Amino acid sequence: MRQTKLFTKTQKEAPSDEEALNAQLLIRAGYIHKEMAGVYQLLPLGLMVVQKIKQIVREEMSDLGTNEMLATSLQPKELWQRTDRWDDEKVDVWFKSALQAGGEVGFGWSHEEPLANMMKNHISSYKDLPLGIYQFQNKLRNEVRAKSGMMRGREFIMKDAYSFAATEEQHEDFYTRSQTAYMNVFKRLGIGDDTYMTYAAGGAFTEFSHEFQTVCEAGEDVTYINKEKGVAINEEVVDTADLEALGVTKDELVATKTAEVGNIFNFGRSKAEEVGLFFKDENGERTPVWMGSYGIGITRLMGVLVEKMADEKGIVWPESVAPYKVHLVALNTDDQEISDWADGVYSSLKDQGITVLYDDRDARPGEKFADSDLLGLPYRVVVSKKGKEAGTFEVVTRATGEVRNLTEEELYADFS
Ligand code: ATP
Ligand code: MG
Repeated sequence: MRQTKLFTKTQKEAPSDEEALNAQLLIRAGYIHKEMAGVYQLLPLGLMVVQKIKQIVREEMSDLGTNEMLATSLQPKELWQRTDRWDDEKVDVWFKSALQAGGEVGFGWSHEEPLANMMKNHISSYKDLPLGIYQFQNKLRNEVRAKSGMMRGREFIMKDAYSFAATEEQHEDFYTRSQTAYMNVFKRLGIGDDTYMTYAAGGAFTEFSHEFQTVCEAGEDVTYINKEKGVAINEEVVDTADLEALGVTKDELVATKTAEVGNIFNFGRSKAEEVGLFFKDENGERTPVWMGSYGIGITRLMGVLVEKMADEKGIVWPESVAPYKVHLVALNTDDQEISDWADGVYSSLKDQGITVLYDDRDARPGEKFADSDLLGLPYRVVVSKKGKEAGTFEVVTRATGEVRNLTEEELYADFS
């Protein structure tokens, strides 16, 4: 991609009402546009990051043997009344609207009810089980507080998955394999080392649900962590007898600011019972399905990665989600020879399958470098008159600041 063809521009300042570092940097670099508090448009570069995060999640989810689908945002009131979750007293994040034709609809903040209900058409026998479905969807939530940028949106992208099982063993099998899949996702995003599977309250059947909390100063949660034992416990359960069950004492745990990047929840058979999702077991008995739900905050992760990895100069993307691997920055482009050379390097890198953002703009070096730092692509390759004379390129690794001078051959070898 040539930067002269990219409609987004970098900005010196973020909107004055934007408090969160992640959104400030993402707005300034042109990844997102703030529509209003907690609502952000994804601009081309931002969309690319989101697609990459989604692809990693998609690969790990399909390894679990689940099918991707896409549910609707508009949802019927009656369905949520059946499980007693329509009332604003029960669920405090509903956006609702009246139909002109009469009646009310809700905007999907979660999809257990509609998807469990839909599954009545597809599950009738134990032979249909186990199975899993997932989707990437814009969730709409009337959050009271929306000051954490991409980390807490009123409209945001979530991956939500739902498992359906005939027996507790089947259910447990999926639940444990999903724990591993989640940790794989976080490893691939470069945050595996300080993301913890955390014991939280609220498992319907087992004692706990599990949150995936990553260490993050800007996070809204506090998690009690014992790094050596690899135990992490949510604030809600840290004071209870549960500590004993988990084999830790309170003084072994360090209270740490964290952000919840995912969570998994076991409904047991209660949700299916409420919704009326039953199957015939091997003895022909009508039995409620075991259900679990599994969320990952896709756009929250984008914000979290910025918060965790950015430095004073700007964003630092892990290679796995960066929109492009290389930022090719051409200086002295008023010199036709340099400009042609830079064009050639751009083509050659692309021919090798390397993704490149090519700063072919007519701008001062200082401005180009500052923008490059702000954008945060993993490698900066500088083409300049000085380099041309020496027959080398300056290659800067964004995360470490390491600078190398490589010949054209060395450059291609390095990236291939
Ligand atoms: P939180 O406690 O942060 O409000 P939650 O318990 O409401 O999260 P879930 O309903 O389980 O979250 O949603 C699954 C995942 O979606 C969360 O783990 C989080 O990563 C993400 N998520 C939840 N709410 C938001 C939001 N308002 N903006 C962005 N991501 C969110
Ligand atoms: Mg919430």
